[in-house]
Amino acid sequence: MQKKYKIWIDEAWRWPWLGPVVACALTFAWNIENSLLNKINDSKKLSEKKREEIFNELIKLSIEEKPKIYFWVWVVDNYIIDEINIKQANKEAMKRALSELLRKIKIEDVDSVLIDWNDNYTFSELTKKPIFIIWWDAKIIEIGAASIIAKVFRDKLIWTYSLIYPNLNLENHKWYGTKKHIDYLTWPDKVTWIHRVSYKPVKKVLENKEKLLLHVCCWPDATIPIVDLKDKYDIRCFWYDPNIHPKEEYDKRLKAFKKVCKIEKIPFIEWEYDTKKFFKISTWLEKCPEKWERCKKCYDFRLERTLYEAKKLWINLYTTTLTISPHKDEKKIFKTWEKLNNENNEQFLIIDFKKNDWFKRSIEYTTLHWIYRQNYCGCIYSNKK
Ligand code: SF4
Repeated sequence: MQKKYKIWIDEAWRWPWLGPVVACALTFAWNIENSLLNKINDSKKLSEKKREEIFNELIKLSIEEKPKIYFWVWVVDNYIIDEINIKQANKEAMKRALSELLRKIKIEDVDSVLIDWNDNYTFSELTKKPIFIIWWDAKIIEIGAASIIAKVFRDKLIWTYSLIYPNLNLENHKWYGTKKHIDYLTWPDKVTWIHRVSYKPVKKVLENKEKLLLHVCCWPDATIPIVDLKDKYDIRCFWYDPNIHPKEEYDKRLKAFKKVCKIEKIPFIEWEYDTKKFFKISTWLEKCPEKWERCKKCYDFRLERTLYEAKKLWINLYTTTLTISPHKDEKKIFKTWEKLNNENNEQFLIIDFKKNDWFKRSIEYTTLHWIYRQNYCGCIYSNKK
């Protein structure tokens, strides 16, 4: 009597956020030695080395003159997954593996097709619907064998990818949606060509707005720049203003700054109040009128510190709210930018906040939210009281 075949299909790498999906369709043509059957278990519980060992034995059986097993593997890459979604890509991988296997055995000799999982696919190659049951690879030897073959193919792909992306540590993490993966995906350039970019967390990273570090010289000046820029940029405010004197005034302004960040839901970094630094740069310049040399140095040291912070945070763009006040000389500020730009090859977002009524609008904002407005620039020399 003609042998009837049961075909078993399983997949590997369906759930990670990167890489292709791999499916294996397999059938046992003849009885397999017990010694091998005993080794085949749920492939998830086997070590990589053990899987490889069994895989090699299965390959030998498939290339004998009278093969004891027939199998076929199909790989559907991440580009197709992004195009048709993972469920359809998995179906495609299984369908292709199945139709290749059906070149080796006649369709009329197929008794049934069994698939691990509950996707309820139908295949035009078959007259009957496949049977779907969850977690078979832990119980059925043939599903275990199909699973081992699919996983070893996947491991070989991982090995190749790990040569291209050694930093991903793919051999140890198959890059499921773990916290580690989420923490890794912070910037668009972290997304590799094997990532499944249609997956929400990956897509979100690619859609990320460009990051901008916004130096805030005082909070009223920061209000409108934050409101206007936050739609376009992912803003982080940077508070570094040790020029403000005395400490009570500094605390008042810092408190108001934090209030604005809270209202606008913007993260901020508060840097140290190193007044010594300000007094050092302003030595001999105490009597300078506003907008002159002392102010130039006052802009410079804060901008330099902001650039340092931006570099530390891998933020390419930075700017400052210093230009909003009519008491500041924006030409001097732009000059410093230009110098820092040339020296550091960084990108500065040059915005003259004086334009477009930003100052006037900042007054309206502070009035609306009942927020304190200072009445002098900041340093002891500008406080004429
Ligand atoms: S007047 Fe303003 S900008 Fe000039 S040194 Fe004082 S705090 Fe700095």
